[in-house]
Amino acid sequence: MTSDEPTSGVDGKSLCSTHIDLLENLDSTLKMIISKISESGFSIWIVGGAVRDSLSEISLHDFDLASDATPSQLMQIFPSSIPTGIAFGTITIPSQGDFGDIEITTLRKDGTYFDRRRPESVRFGTSLLEDLNRRDFKINAMAIDPINLLFYDPHGGRKDLESGILSAVGEASQRLEEDGLRIMRAYRFMCHDSGPFIPDENLSQALIDSVQNLDSISRERIWMEFSTLLSYQNVSEVLQRMVDDGVMNYVIPGCNDVLGIDNCNFEGITGYNLMIGRLSLLLKSFDEETVTQILNELLVSNKVRNSVTSIRKRIGIIPNTESKGCLRRYRIALGGDLVAQMSAERGNSLEESDKLRTELSLLPPLSGGNEPLVSGSDILSRLEIEPGPLLGEVKQWLFRIQVENDISDSDSVWEKAESLGFIDRPLGEHRMWV
Ligand code: ATP
Ligand code: MG
Repeated sequence: MTSDEPTSGVDGKSLCSTHIDLLENLDSTLKMIISKISESGFSIWIVGGAVRDSLSEISLHDFDLASDATPSQLMQIFPSSIPTGIAFGTITIPSQGDFGDIEITTLRKDGTYFDRRRPESVRFGTSLLEDLNRRDFKINAMAIDPINLLFYDPHGGRKDLESGILSAVGEASQRLEEDGLRIMRAYRFMCHDSGPFIPDENLSQALIDSVQNLDSISRERIWMEFSTLLSYQNVSEVLQRMVDDGVMNYVIPGCNDVLGIDNCNFEGITGYNLMIGRLSLLLKSFDEETVTQILNELLVSNKVRNSVTSIRKRIGIIPNTESKGCLRRYRIALGGDLVAQMSAERGNSLEESDKLRTELSLLPPLSGGNEPLVSGSDILSRLEIEPGPLLGEVKQWLFRIQVENDISDSDSVWEKAESLGFIDRPLGEHRMWV
């Protein structure tokens, strides 16, 4: 074997039963990709998260493949593939399989890093060992050869995984110096669902010493890692560690209160809603202007910004749980943010929010649906008003009556409005209801 052969320098071991199961249960697209690459005379490995998470027996959510074929060779083998990260050797094969689109990255060795962000150059088609050496943590630097049924673990990732240790591949401070984003990734992996992991001594110290390397990393990339972290099960200890290590200041400057953050989690909540609830809670004590600035700097999406801005303001304002009308109105007012609001409330006050959540879960759907039964044109034909802001207010008020009283037809909404004295009042007075 010459030094340029893909597996040079690494000893493959036979696969454990978990990895054999993994291979047996691959979906048909993945099996097809693997055989096509192999039949074309190239090697192929399963790398990264799938190798790690299957050992931890948690569900896999994506699948990374590595090959010694160059990106252009891969594109010849898979004409429908998309060159998604060609400079770093990544192509994507569209797939409807279990893991969606599949990424294949050509084996590479990163050149010198500049700016603490990106390697100056990458070299393709070298050895598997070199490719595993460029990876961040030992638990992320294992590979499976699905054709020859071999497991590669040159850095002892499996041992780390079994002992709950997070350690860098190579010298921790140098690896964090090369790419500051690895600092964020370290905290993310500490509370990853395949863990939890405690960083070893070298990594722990390097995280503290290298914190300023985050200056070179865009807030957007920081946010990508941080938002993923916020969607994990238990994160409060790691968040506290980020505060203590001075890292939190690069994410949410001035945030040092992470109390209650694990309570935001409850059974059945999605990772996305959990992330929104937790972020809203972390931003609770900041003034509105600062929150806007923080969210703008992190370049969060408009959807995230809108939800967090509204949820944060409402934290602690709990409706009267004895009144079905109040509960109905609360549910409508929150709309799609309801679950994330419950998450933030739970972090803020466990008992009160659990009671609210139980009451809301018992509340039947509205009999008249979730949209106003009285339209703008109905209002214009009944009342002598011009289209404009007043029309909007009246519409809102009638909708409120509909929701509070769970009314199912528009005539009954008008009747209820009349019984409340609406019709006899000078126009504009209804504002007191809005
Ligand atoms: P998960 O998908 O659960 O977040 P993962 O291990 O698949 O875990 P990714 O962010 O998808 O994480 O990255 C895939 C792999 O690429 C990692 O396992 C790691 O080997 C490598 N990797 C990603 N980012 C870096 C980085 N900044 N430095 C070094 N290696 C990296
Ligand atoms: Mg991944």
